Amino acid sequence: MDKLIDPFARPISYLRVSVTDRCDFRCVYCMSENMTFLPKKELLTLEELDRLCSTFVGLGVEKLRITGGEPLVRREIMTFFNAMTRHLDSGALKELTLTTNGSQLEKFAQPLWDAGVRRVNISLDTLDEQKFADITRWGRLPQVLRGIDAAQAAGMRVKLNAVALKGFNEPELFSMTEWCAKRDIDLTWIEVMPMGDIGNEDRLGQYWKLTDLRDRLAEQYTLTDLPESTGGPARYVRLEETGQKVGFITPLSHNFCESCNRVRLTCTGDLFMCLGQEDRADLRSALRNHPDSDAPLEQAIRKAISMKPEGHDFDYSRQSVDGRVSRHMSHTGG
Ligand code: SAM
Ligand code: SF4
Repeated sequence: MDKLIDPFARPISYLRVSVTDRCDFRCVYCMSENMTFLPKKELLTLEELDRLCSTFVGLGVEKLRITGGEPLVRREIMTFFNAMTRHLDSGALKELTLTTNGSQLEKFAQPLWDAGVRRVNISLDTLDEQKFADITRWGRLPQVLRGIDAAQAAGMRVKLNAVALKGFNEPELFSMTEWCAKRDIDLTWIEVMPMGDIGNEDRLGQYWKLTDLRDRLAEQYTLTDLPESTGGPARYVRLEETGQKVGFITPLSHNFCESCNRVRLTCTGDLFMCLGQEDRADLRSALRNHPDSDAPLEQAIRKAISMKPEGHDFDYSRQSVDGRVSRHMSHTGG
């Protein structure tokens, strides 16, 4: 079967899937305290997620990243992970992974390992218990730390993702780096994006430019640029003194578009071809209207990929209100 190639000759090999819009945290940069979540019938069922992901794998997707909302709060989510194992076993899928807040990992680390998950990205912005409670509103740090322990004990490679917030985790730049080095954990900093209507603009006034963060890091460590490209918005350096990898994700920059190999599926079955643009394709109708044949779904996927834009320019004036991409990160998955 012909693989998915977009109009700019980029093979599409990476699918991010949001399996729920719900979460057990309310991070201030991501959600408002009183979120209205989607009615259940809008969500793809686990069987539909399986069918969709399997179709993508059949079309050449080799890497699946499961995200949310918080993917591990989706009921019976292990049924889905376990179903994906067959694609790892067949060799069609090279990697099955997830991005999680870590709150449920103590329970799920071993079953995830058993399903074939070898790497996990855990979002953690601070190692200070009170600050953690403040930024996540509902989260408890010790629970997440136990989750990280469980993931490492199961054998998974852990990467931490921290949203860079000036005046918040800026003072922890070196302590977090050292904490990660000691545990052989790579650390990636994410520049905060203005997303959705989260009702707390003043707390977002803490934008911390990653070039600035990098300069601070270079005061204490020798940084070597790593050539590796993941086809995504991350750039990596190695800290020569510790050997650890530190990443920088600047989602708003479009210097990575030319190598973009990914698309994102929301929990309602909308396919976003580009994180920076509002264009989407409805795959749920093709799924639900044709329960007995995957051909219309395949056709809908190919059509969507044929519309993948060359890149984004984050021209907010065209795409959104008040400089915000109007959808929430928890809807498309970060
Ligand atoms: N709940 C999971 C978690 O927190 O890892 C997965 C979904 S979360 C939306 C994925 C990533 O998006 C997290 O690393 C989070 O920090 C990041 N994120 C959420 N809102 C963001 C924003 N406004 N700017 C930058 N990153 C954001
Ligand atoms: Fe939940 Fe992740 Fe958003 Fe935090 S960043 S509120 S953990 S979805």
